[in-house]
Amino acid sequence: MDICRRPPRPPPRGTTDHDRPSSSVDHRFPSPTPRASDALPLPLYLTNAVFFTLFFSVAYYLLHRWRDKIRNSTPLHVVTLSEIAAIVSLIASFIYLLGFFGIDFVQSFISRASHDAWDLDDPQHHRNFLIDDDPRRTPRIAVPPTPPTPPKLANPEPIISTLSSEEDEEIVKLVVEGTIPSYSLESKLGDCKRAASIRREALQRMTGRSLQGLPLEGLDYESILGQCCEMPVGYVQIPVGIAGPLLLDGFEYSVPMATTEGCLVASTNRGCKAIYASGGATSILLRDAMTRAPVVRFASAKRASELKFFLEDPNNFETLGVVFNRSSRFSRLQGIHCSMAGKNLYMRFSCSTGDAMGMNMVSKGVQNVLDFLQDDFPDMDVIGISGNFCSDKKPAAVNWIEGRGKSVVCEAIIKEEVVKKVLKTNVAALVELNMLKNLTGSAVAGALGGYNAHASNIVSAIFIATGQDPAQNVESSNCITMLEPVNDGKDLHISVSMPSIEVGTVGGGTQLASQSACLNLIGVKGANKESPGSNSRLLATIVAGAVLAGELSLLSAIASGQLVKSHMKYNRSSKDVTKVAS
Ligand code: ADP
Repeated sequence: MDICRRPPRPPPRGTTDHDRPSSSVDHRFPSPTPRASDALPLPLYLTNAVFFTLFFSVAYYLLHRWRDKIRNSTPLHVVTLSEIAAIVSLIASFIYLLGFFGIDFVQSFISRASHDAWDLDDPQHHRNFLIDDDPRRTPRIAVPPTPPTPPKLANPEPIISTLSSEEDEEIVKLVVEGTIPSYSLESKLGDCKRAASIRREALQRMTGRSLQGLPLEGLDYESILGQCCEMPVGYVQIPVGIAGPLLLDGFEYSVPMATTEGCLVASTNRGCKAIYASGGATSILLRDAMTRAPVVRFASAKRASELKFFLEDPNNFETLGVVFNRSSRFSRLQGIHCSMAGKNLYMRFSCSTGDAMGMNMVSKGVQNVLDFLQDDFPDMDVIGISGNFCSDKKPAAVNWIEGRGKSVVCEAIIKEEVVKKVLKTNVAALVELNMLKNLTGSAVAGALGGYNAHASNIVSAIFIATGQDPAQNVESSNCITMLEPVNDGKDLHISVSMPSIEVGTVGGGTQLASQSACLNLIGVKGANKESPGSNSRLLATIVAGAVLAGELSLLSAIASGQLVKSHMKYNRSSKDVTKVAS
């Protein structure tokens, strides 16, 4: 016990906590505060023993004296000199013990003694006595972790105002005090930029935190209204790099990639170079169909199955198609795949959507069909227009197996000398790595559509640059990468199979100026007038081609042991991060 209580020895001069071996200092527990006993010349355990003995012997002596007085009818307040000395010693030793062990210990000690609960022969009680107040002991009751709280501001941050008039100042005050709801600024003012500026100012004042560094100027706020983002206060800048030229199906493309991950563009660029030097890549578009799957409920599974058979009957397809396609001149119903869970029916509608990614379009078509079905199936209870069998923005086997959006396969044969000179590795090493990493390793990990090295890196970067929905990166990155030796083992055949690339060149964020410029660079901006859908399909093949380049380069970096080195070069600048942050 005394060892636990002993204050830690002061570190030798010139050493810091970091220098000391971890066993010597435990930072989790504060060192005990200095006590009077620290000044005693005796070792601590001897001092404790002296005071313990003193306390109990004096208490014993006094109790005996008082018992004799009671027997002899001597008044208790008549005390001798020795009794005075004993009382003083009792108080002194009590104060020492109280100060040393703490009030809790003394209280529990007294209460145990008074209730005869402390059986000195019980080893368990000895243990408790020794360790009960040991702060290093794990508490018997698990203490829940402290909930995170936002750090308090020591000083209010300097807020740089962007207001242009007294009137704006007044509106900011009204927003801060809650008289004007922040979301209503655009409609009330009729000026989206001004609304963003006022909202931003109000936000800074309410939070006391500066938004300096988040640009306000430079975005067309009218263009995002009702389409891309509500309650804007600025925009985040993401650098756009260019990989390429990507030689795909005989055409060269410069691929815009918006990313903050160093190495990514450089690596994809190297893959493009290897593909180019080997004569280019080829893509095949297998399928183009966006999906939406509502869930409906019936009173019985039998009744739900009747609707399933109705929807899957080829004789009904034409009628259903006409109803569905009313949603847009670009939507074409392709099929309905049903699945049942008890008396609940999930109907996965798939349709082509022209150059739009198509979620709105397919949802409108599904709504048309549900309204139509209500006549023949009035007992159908529509639970939700989306029942997750679609499946949007979530990992799901249905997209991996059935496809969603564009299903693309892209391949290339990389020549032996290119593997050596550009990729700095060899065919056998690449094939082996792919087998053990992308195929076996992913199987070991229980992957779902993740049989690749980093498809999502390239997919996300192109998605952000070209105004796609970044959340659809989840299923759009489904990819299996295959590598095989060809031409007597000299050259490398590489392919990526991506069953669910969800892209569009109209709608959503694609119409914003920066994103539109990136689409323009590739040559797929907006709707394709001559052949609706061609632009979005071409974009999907370019995504797959860039993924092919990315896979080729990363696998090569890993195979040749260059990965860490190149990341240290491109991803870890030598800048002093602490200075940059401040
Ligand atoms: P999404 O369905 O991807 O959410 P939107 O519904 O927002 O897309 O955008 C598609 C809109 O663009 C529709 O109103 C559609 O009529 C129009 N549009 C114009 N040209 C095309 C085209 N070539 N392909 C698809 N939609 C087009």
